[in-house]
Amino acid sequence: LPSQEPPRIQRLDESVVNRIAAGEVIQRPVAAVKELVENSLDAGSTSINVVVKDGGLKLIQVSDDGHGIRHDDLPILCERHTTSKLSAFEDLQSIKSMGFRGEALASMTYVAHVTVTTITSGQLHGYKVSYRDGVMEHEPKACAAVKGTQITIENLFYNMIARRKTLQNSADDYPKIVDLLCRFAIHHKNVSFSCRKHGANTADVHSAIVPTRLDAIRSVYGVSVARSLINIDASDDNPSSSVFEMEGFISDSNYTSKKTTMVLFINERLVECTALKRAIEIIYAATLPKASKPFIYMSIILPPDHVDVNVHPTKREVSLLNQEVIIEKIQSAIELTLRNLSQATTYEEHQ
Ligand code: ADP
Ligand code: MG
Repeated sequence: LPSQEPPRIQRLDESVVNRIAAGEVIQRPVAAVKELVENSLDAGSTSINVVVKDGGLKLIQVSDDGHGIRHDDLPILCERHTTSKLSAFEDLQSIKSMGFRGEALASMTYVAHVTVTTITSGQLHGYKVSYRDGVMEHEPKACAAVKGTQITIENLFYNMIARRKTLQNSADDYPKIVDLLCRFAIHHKNVSFSCRKHGANTADVHSAIVPTRLDAIRSVYGVSVARSLINIDASDDNPSSSVFEMEGFISDSNYTSKKTTMVLFINERLVECTALKRAIEIIYAATLPKASKPFIYMSIILPPDHVDVNVHPTKREVSLLNQEVIIEKIQSAIELTLRNLSQATTYEEHQ
């Protein structure tokens, strides 16, 4: 064998590093929408409106009525690791906001063209400024603005040919974006959400501020879904096993669907938990064998230091202390509810 010289190790260009990192944080258009909507929620908005063109590849625009961004902060707004939400690593243990890394806006500027219009309270006019590769393209320009912030993402992945091609070849992200906003809308019943295609007159999601969770579910998922839901809750406050509170709605045997809808918030974050979803599906199959796959809305609250929010680049998954115990407890609560339900039905049938 010919002796082979080892290849030289080189430092990657910062712009390459940033683009690679950005591609992980923003994997597809719906991920950009999630980050933007979470920023709007973190800004205390009560109204969030989303406009999408070409599945988000051409345009994503999120407008809110939140606290806005200070003029003085605009120069560093889209730099990597600039945030108003976290200062020390330890703060992650008690973080209430959804953002904390100062990565989202920066990432978008590395893979798209970003324009921000914002106004803070007490100002006579707002500012508009565009960003590329983390930096402002020009001084902020004074402009008319009402309240809050509007962020426009254009030509997403224009500089990632392979990503753009795969996304263009597959079904576009618009249904995923609509689904995402439906989920946010039922959890944040004090915020009104809308989502529409660019140029369309009607919105595909349009949620009003409503008094109860069930009202919110009804307005977003429809009357027949809401009618087939039962309230559930479970909790544990034994520090040696687990500490949590769960509250939500699950479907009864009148609900029909081929796949499970699981809307899960853990400490106010929209996340996924495959283990919990499977566990619930198993209970449904065992208890209501003839029923369809369930609809579930669930909000779980744990002590902040029992949740690690920093385990996934898109923050889609979190890891929980005592996850197995929590899942078991939720399983039993659901099983009990479903059994009572099927007994009640059997009883009615025999009357
Ligand atoms: P993070 O949310 O992790 O802080 P982002 O890159 O998403 O990082 O946002 C950077 C900062 O920009 C935020 O910390 C916040 O101060 C500000 N910001 C972003 N979006 C908005 C918005 N819609 N309204 C007000 N401030 C915003
Ligand atoms: Mg953010």
